[in-house]
Amino acid sequence: MVNFGNTCYINSSLQALFHVPAFVNWLQSESRHLQECNGESIGDCIICAMYRTYKSSQNILGIVIKPILIYRRLKYICNHFAYGREEDAHEFMRYLLHSMEEAYLAGYIGEKLDTFSRETTPINQIFGGYIRTEVTCSECGSVSTTFQHCQDFLLDIEHVSTVDDALDDYFSTERLDGDDAYYCRGCNKKVVATRKFSLEKNPQVLCLQFKRFNFSGRKIEKHVTISERLDITRFLCPSSAHHSSEPLIYHLVSMVTHIGLSVKSGHYTAVAGMCAGHYFEFDDKLVYHMSVSEVLETNAYILLYECEPCEEPEDSLASQQREGCTTATRRIKHNNR
Ligand SMILES: [Zn+2]
Ligand SMILES: [Zn+2]
Repeated sequence: MVNFGNTCYINSSLQALFHVPAFVNWLQSESRHLQECNGESIGDCIICAMYRTYKSSQNILGIVIKPILIYRRLKYICNHFAYGREEDAHEFMRYLLHSMEEAYLAGYIGEKLDTFSRETTPINQIFGGYIRTEVTCSECGSVSTTFQHCQDFLLDIEHVSTVDDALDDYFSTERLDGDDAYYCRGCNKKVVATRKFSLEKNPQVLCLQFKRFNFSGRKIEKHVTISERLDITRFLCPSSAHHSSEPLIYHLVSMVTHIGLSVKSGHYTAVAGMCAGHYFEFDDKLVYHMSVSEVLETNAYILLYECEPCEEPEDSLASQQREGCTTATRRIKHNNR
């Protein structure tokens, strides 16, 4: 992909997304949208722009493409981004997916969808999950449970050395004490409590971001060991409607890397797996083959893992997921995490 001047964050985000099978399958199967959009509005729609950019990237001649349809919509995707300035790839990816969701929902504008229905877009079915938070009062033992919708996991890396440790840290139990003490309605006062996080529903595609940039934009350069496969079974809540006896295994499909000292300077590239054990690095218009060991030694910034299908028969799994979704959705409340 051609760099239009500090647009490596766009190129690497697009390359990372274009190598997520679930995302690409959806983009190609969006027949209702593509048909309805095929008229006058094609110039404005971000879903159509993404579809056409993806199709142009699939030319068999290996021609370098210009992701101009996305570049031109930068202000629509994220109003505070500036042309010609290096921006944060993770922020861009989030805004891009959000604008695709908004474009999708625009097709249902007359239907007055509630919040929960708005969380059932295809983008959400791919990247969305729910986190269960349980706060337990240390005095009366009452448990307050809330659910939060999430599309990515922002992982602290300062005190960990592997992606597994970073996830363990994310889902670790916190003690709420002192200034953070919890107001228990049963006890009618502030009390010491514990807060436990678990997965109520796992996303089909797990998007992990390593918090490499602090508030001032300075970078944490350390290497965090990543693995091709991730087992996140231990984070799924045992009482979740989505719990099954099968392990929850994910495999790495793509990632975005950052080279440089701060969020506003440096260079982004993407790394993506093509087929069994073959990875490529996408550095604007250059593409290199990478060995597995080179991939695992990369200082990743954003990691995209896709869930591997479990052994259950497809029919029963699909009906369970439908049931589970409805149950979870009815119970969702938001919290402030
Ligand atoms: Zn469209
Ligand atoms: Zn209490």
